[in-house]
Amino acid sequence: MQYVSTRAKNNVVESAQAIVKGLSEDGGLFVPSEFPAITKEELLAMGDMEYSDRAAVVLSKYLTDFTLDELKEYTAKAYARFYDDDPCPLVAIDEKTYILELWHGPTCAFKDMALTLLPHLMVASRKKIGETGKTLILVATSGDTGKAALEGFKDVEGCEIIVFYPSEGVSDMQKLQMQTQAGDNVYVCAIKGNFDDAQSAVKVIFNDDNVKAQLLEKGYKLSSANSINWGRLVPQIAYYVSSYVDLLSSGELNYGDKINFCVPSGNFGNILAGYYAMRMGIPIGKLICASNKNKVLTEFFESGKYDINREFYKTMSPSMDILISSNLERLLFEISGRDDKAVSELMNNLKTNGYYTLDFDTFKKNASNFEGGFSEEDMTMDTIEEFYDENDYLLDTHTAVAVGVYNEYSRQSGDNTPTVIVSTASPYKFPQDVYNALTGQYIEDSIKAADMLEEYTGYEIPEPLQNLQSREVRFKDVIEKDQIKQAVLNAIKK
Ligand SMILES: *Cc1c(COP(=O)(O)O)cnc(C)c1O
Repeated sequence: MQYVSTRAKNNVVESAQAIVKGLSEDGGLFVPSEFPAITKEELLAMGDMEYSDRAAVVLSKYLTDFTLDELKEYTAKAYARFYDDDPCPLVAIDEKTYILELWHGPTCAFKDMALTLLPHLMVASRKKIGETGKTLILVATSGDTGKAALEGFKDVEGCEIIVFYPSEGVSDMQKLQMQTQAGDNVYVCAIKGNFDDAQSAVKVIFNDDNVKAQLLEKGYKLSSANSINWGRLVPQIAYYVSSYVDLLSSGELNYGDKINFCVPSGNFGNILAGYYAMRMGIPIGKLICASNKNKVLTEFFESGKYDINREFYKTMSPSMDILISSNLERLLFEISGRDDKAVSELMNNLKTNGYYTLDFDTFKKNASNFEGGFSEEDMTMDTIEEFYDENDYLLDTHTAVAVGVYNEYSRQSGDNTPTVIVSTASPYKFPQDVYNALTGQYIEDSIKAADMLEEYTGYEIPEPLQNLQSREVRFKDVIEKDQIKQAVLNAIKK
C-alpha cells in the first residue's frame, strides 16, 4: 500500500515513510492510495480473536511495510498497557444503542488507543527506513494529548519526549497527571501563559536551524506526535471494525445489517477513521458528527461552508474546542474525487480568508453518510443527568455531547438503525462538571470532586486516576516563553 499527499497526488511514499515524516512536504496529509477491502470471512474469523489481534489484521491492510506478526507484537504490547482486559468494551444501553468505551488506557482518554501504539510503529518505521539516530518528540498540549503521548513514549527505546503545557491552560487533573509522569526519557515543563503561547514556543524550536543543528550533533532528530500523522489515525479504524464484529458475534446483527456511529468530534480524526472503516466494507449507515458550542463542523455538514470567522468558546468539553479540524482535509480529498488541486485551493482559501465553500449538490451526494449536530452547554449538563437517571450510566462531558446530538438526530429523523455512541473519556477526567451536572454543586478541587462523584455514584475511579495526589511530583519547572530553547537543550543532557 502506498500513500499519497492530499495536495499533490504524485507525491508517493510507503507506509513507514508516511509515519516517520508525519506531514508531506507540500503541506498535505498522507492518505492511502486506495481503500483495502475487508471480507465477510475475515470479519467472521475476527469473532474469535482478542482486540489486539483484530487491530493487527486491520493495520496489516494499510501498513504493508510490516508483517502481520510484527504488527501483532506491537498491538499486544500497546493494549497490554490498558487497565482492563478488553481495551474497548461495547456496552449495550438498550436494544439499539451501544456505547463504545475508548478510555480504558493509561490516561483514560481515547487518545490512548493510538498513542500507545504509535511509539512502536515509529521505532519500527525508523528501522525500516534506516534511521539510526534518536528521535526527540516535542509536544505542546492543552491537556489530553500531552499526557497520552508521555505514557505512550515513556521508556521507548531510541525516543525521548518533552511536553510543554501552558501554566494557566490545563485542568488540575491534567496538570497532576503530567507532573507525576514516570519514565527515564520524559521531561515536562510549564510555559507561562496560555495554550497559544506554549504552541508558538514549540513551533519556534521546529523552525530554528541553529537548535536543530545542535540537536543533530548530539544525535537527535525532531518529530511530533500530533494527530495528522497517519500512524495516529490508522489504529483508530480498528475499533470501528471491531465493534461491528462484536455485534455479529453476539448475534445482535447479521452480516450486512447497517450500523450508525455518533462521534464527539474536534480535530475530526476519530470520525474520519469510521469513514475509512466504511470504505473498507463495514456497512455503516450514518456517521453523526457531534460538536459542542464551537459548531464549525455542524454548519459545514448543513451548508457545505467551512467558516472559522467566529467567536471561540471555552467549554466543558475542552478537547472539542477547535476551530480548524485538520483531518477534514482527508475527507475533502475523498469527496472531491481525489482532486488534489481542488483540496490545495480550499486549504488556501481557509488560510487567506478563513473559510471555503463546496459545491452544495456534489457535496451532499458524496458526503451523504455524514450528519452534523451540536450541543450547547446546558443541554450537555442535562444529558449527563438524564442519562444517569435513566440508564444508571455515567457520561463524561465529551460523550454527553454525542449522546445529546444523537437523541436529537433520532427524534428528528426517525432513524431506527442500531447506533454506537463513541465514548472518548472517563467521566473522572472531568469530575467537577460531571458532579455538578448530577447534583447542581460545583466542587473547585478536582481530586475532591472525583472522590465525591465516586461516593455519589458508586462507580470506581479508574486505576490511572487513583491516588494522583500521593504520587511524587517530578516536574515543577515553569519557564518564560523565550527560555524554551535552553530548556530543550538542558533536558536532553540529563
Ligand atoms: C481528542 C478528543 C476528542 C476529539 O477527537 P478528534 O479526533 O480530535 O475529533 C473528543 N473527546 C476527547 C475526550 C478527546 O480527548
